[in-house]
Amino acid sequence: MNEFDILKSIGSNLTDRKSVAALSNFAVLCNNIAFLNLAFLKALESLRKCRTDLQAVLSDDSNLHAKYQSGTDLHAFIPIVDCLQRNGHSVFQKLVDLSSPVDREGVTVANVSVLARGFDDYNTLVTATRQYVDSIVSDSYQLVLLNPKALNYHVLVSLNSFSKFATKSLAHALFNADVQAALTEFENLKFKDWAKSSITECKHNTFANKVDFLMSELGTPPDPTLPDALKNLFKFSSEFTHIGYVSTFFTATAEKEVVFVDDTGPYLPSTENHCELQYEILVTACKVLAAVYIPSLIRCIDTLTANASGDVISATLRHCAHSLQNDIASRNAEYYFFVKSGSIGTPFVFPLTCMCGSTRHWGRPHDSAELFCESCGSSFKLMQVEGDGGYVITSNGPARIIGSDAPEFQDLPASEQEKILKQCEAASNNASK
Ligand SMILES: [Zn+2]
Repeated sequence: MNEFDILKSIGSNLTDRKSVAALSNFAVLCNNIAFLNLAFLKALESLRKCRTDLQAVLSDDSNLHAKYQSGTDLHAFIPIVDCLQRNGHSVFQKLVDLSSPVDREGVTVANVSVLARGFDDYNTLVTATRQYVDSIVSDSYQLVLLNPKALNYHVLVSLNSFSKFATKSLAHALFNADVQAALTEFENLKFKDWAKSSITECKHNTFANKVDFLMSELGTPPDPTLPDALKNLFKFSSEFTHIGYVSTFFTATAEKEVVFVDDTGPYLPSTENHCELQYEILVTACKVLAAVYIPSLIRCIDTLTANASGDVISATLRHCAHSLQNDIASRNAEYYFFVKSGSIGTPFVFPLTCMCGSTRHWGRPHDSAELFCESCGSSFKLMQVEGDGGYVITSNGPARIIGSDAPEFQDLPASEQEKILKQCEAASNNASK
């Protein structure tokens, strides 16, 4: 290919973008977005409450390690830690707002264009995502380190940029004489000394370095692919934030869209594409909150407090991270059901109750394409069991064979229940041997 072939391929591929077919189930995608968005919001509410409680604990010197008490050099970290949290919450709230589920109420084929998603929508969502990952990683980094020089570097670099264009009144409102003096001292440093001077230090200057450092401090997250997902999301969002060519071409194309219709009503391919991205962002946002930010805050509480005054807050935070992890894991999971062999194809309707609580009534023609949860997108796998048994003994407890004549486990006489539970216990002991 010569330079014109390349240019032509770019011209045709990026501007005449073909419609992406709706591959996954849109209703499930919308349910999952609504579910995780709510989980994200609840976690944020819990963080806000913990911040207030923490402020009360840290305002009492008797709770602090001697080196952080009033009058010490390091006491400055007490208001800084509070401010980091407050600023973080604003950034988190913005992503919560922008990752809310699409409202399809009152949308008809005539006005379905209100659901079209274009450059503005992508730009707003991805810019907020960029702020989120940037802010959550650098705040976690500072909370874990609590190092004066590292914090100075971070703040002075941004103050320095800010002051370049800030109007006089804005600078006057924000910079007191002390900050101005600190900034002047920083400006007198040579650029090459910014990351290592008598007042500043930065050992991990890139986003990826900070992520790796946090992983080494906090341990491998429940999802070991999270560090790479974060770095990829950072690069992806840079492309949008800096108005890269691909993102502009990709999302700015004004094309006539085909209209899809499901049980809720009509929607557009661009709605679905935007929702898919929104969901992937939500998953990563919740994972980093649970596996990086919250553990960093707990680490910070441990560093600052000398007694058990922060224990209740740390326990609340741990609980918050745990429920967020569970909520993430409950979406698009895979569940197994035991069914009586030979009952598939008969008029029997299988009640398949998902872990999320929703039941699919799977009847003839017993189409395997329907073996998924319409609420959370989890897929169902069926294991056919031969014979007349009523339950399968597993190390997690008894599983009733669907389609068998056996009653529900809880409807069995107590003695029968006990007998089966003993067998399960034995299976569990065997499994752990
Ligand atoms: Zn489900």
